[in-house]
Amino acid sequence: MHQKPDADAMGSGLGLYHFLMQFGHEVQLISPTNWARWLNWMEGVDEVLDYELFKTKADEILDAADWLFCLDFNHFDRTKTMAPKIASLSCTKILIDHHREPDNVAFNYGVSNTAKSSTCEMVYDFIVASGHRHQINKYISECLYAGVVADTGSFRFSSTHAGVHHMVAALKEQGLEHVKVHEALYDNNMENRLRFLGHVLSNRMEVFYEYNTALISIPKSDLFKYGIKTGDTEGLVNYPLSIQGIILAGFVIDRDEERKWSFRSKGSFDCNAFARQHFNGGGHFNASGGRDQDSLPDTVRKFRQIIKDNKSLLQ
Ligand code: 5GP
Ligand code: MN
Repeated sequence: MHQKPDADAMGSGLGLYHFLMQFGHEVQLISPTNWARWLNWMEGVDEVLDYELFKTKADEILDAADWLFCLDFNHFDRTKTMAPKIASLSCTKILIDHHREPDNVAFNYGVSNTAKSSTCEMVYDFIVASGHRHQINKYISECLYAGVVADTGSFRFSSTHAGVHHMVAALKEQGLEHVKVHEALYDNNMENRLRFLGHVLSNRMEVFYEYNTALISIPKSDLFKYGIKTGDTEGLVNYPLSIQGIILAGFVIDRDEERKWSFRSKGSFDCNAFARQHFNGGGHFNASGGRDQDSLPDTVRKFRQIIKDNKSLLQ
């Protein structure tokens, strides 16, 4: 899965893990980095190796692997410090992903389909196509459902095609407790995170009505002050997009090693192209991310200039 895994990355990984384990395979899920604490309710998360913490052990396992499933990313560089290692492996590499512009030559087999709502939906398809649908247990079902809910914005984005609802209906028939998953994902805040949200919306958001764009930028001092950890900023980029008329939202956070950007759009503004062109990133048409080595004020200045230059695309 990609670095700083979200619910789709972790959910698809654990869903596949619980499925393959039933066939007697030896399976190890590896995350390139740490992850948000609000994913820790997922069954099996305690077995996941954090590559940055357990590099030697993870490298040994990777060296011995016959098969490597790459989930929810399509370029090795999305695995950060793990990238050179997986590039060097001679085992069979299988891609299951829904992002744009995959690095096809890096994989031996796989499915890359941007029409899919989530990698979790694709793992579900994989299980169904294998003829073992009846082996979807409670854990698989919860993990896969979580990724679908997260990546579809709770079934609201255009990626929510009829097949997504068919999948959920099938999971419900097999006993999925969807309330439990929604509560685990969305009613799991710590007080500091909610107060941080209030601060950000009041003090760190700028709206550029002329360009139908809004921006949130977060200095490091805010992260210290509110005790913000990995995953706590997830979803904040969606708030400015809920302002009437706004079609592009940018969100940037000052991390030690880089300035990390998230972009979200409505309608015909291509966030993938925007992130690729200007911020060394990529993703989906209406949701993408990127990074910059420049300082926070410099990268924000750059963003302001780019939206000015792209005024015609933002009408
Ligand atoms: P988020 O803003 O939630 O971190 O990411 C939004 C989407 O863009 C996700 O599908 C994510 O995988 C993708 N994405 C985020 N950051 C990057 C990046 O630096 N490079 C690429 N290629 N994709 C990214
Ligand atoms: Mn995804």
